[in-house]
Amino acid sequence: MVEQNLAGKLAVVTGSNSGIGLGVAEALAAAGADLVINSFTDRDEDHALAKDLADRHGVEVRYVAADMSKAADCRALIAAAGRCDILINNAGIQHVAPIDEFPQDKWDAILAINLSSAFHTTAAALPLMRKAGWGRVVNVASAHGLTASPFKSAYVAAKHGVVGLTKVTALETAGQGITCNAICPGYVLTPIIEAQIPDQMKTHNMSREDVIAKVMLSRQPSGQFATVEQIGGTAVFLCSDTAAQITGTTISVDGGWTAL
Ligand code: NAD
Repeated sequence: MVEQNLAGKLAVVTGSNSGIGLGVAEALAAAGADLVINSFTDRDEDHALAKDLADRHGVEVRYVAADMSKAADCRALIAAAGRCDILINNAGIQHVAPIDEFPQDKWDAILAINLSSAFHTTAAALPLMRKAGWGRVVNVASAHGLTASPFKSAYVAAKHGVVGLTKVTALETAGQGITCNAICPGYVLTPIIEAQIPDQMKTHNMSREDVIAKVMLSRQPSGQFATVEQIGGTAVFLCSDTAAQITGTTISVDGGWTAL
């Protein structure tokens, strides 16, 4: 039987005020974990969100603002948490442009937020996990961590890097009660994907419906978006005792995209 009771564990979820991060936070809280949720902003809604999660799931939830593009903020987030049994590296951004027109500042930001942040938070969290003799690192990579698309050079490079970092983290923690795995979602209709649709409509001269069907879901044999609930459930499974021997691997939640 899958042991999904995470009561007594503290989970830090980066970039968790929307989309997949929020879905993972919901799923961990439903499994009983206390939470530190995060974004780079610090608005009233962020604290209200923490209170709402705490009230609905009967767990402790704190909001900590930290900019995942900055190494010091990544490490300060873990320090502010105080403990870190579960680390979900989820914060991410995207930009689409040909390599020879790709803005340097976008390349730097994508590599910092999508890849380097996971290095910094993991480096800060591992000593706490070793002290506790138990830990779970789950990196939200992407189908683009295993395969590529044109015009997404920084995103594809960063997500391939996340998959590599996942394997190294697993090897350095093997046998210590700590696992590290990556979830590789296909398309999930979150704000990051919504933001791409108008550009894709212009690029392909297509309606919104055609962009979704012909540009996005055509890559997923299932013909359906994955949901944030499905990513959340996968994260809970990876944090469960059933998954204690699963480390250094990737789990695709992509409707068959990477099987093609
Ligand atoms: P989203 O835009 O809803 O979520 C991104 C999150 O990252 C937000 O909470 C945002 O506040 C946070 N964030 C952005 N910059 C930050 C910064 N500098 N510091 C701290 N937080 C920051 O999009 P999403 O789809 O939920 O993306 C979450 C993760 O899932 C990303 O890593 C993304 O690459 C990955 N992913 C998404 C899809 C998809 O189809 N939606 C597919 C594969 C992988």
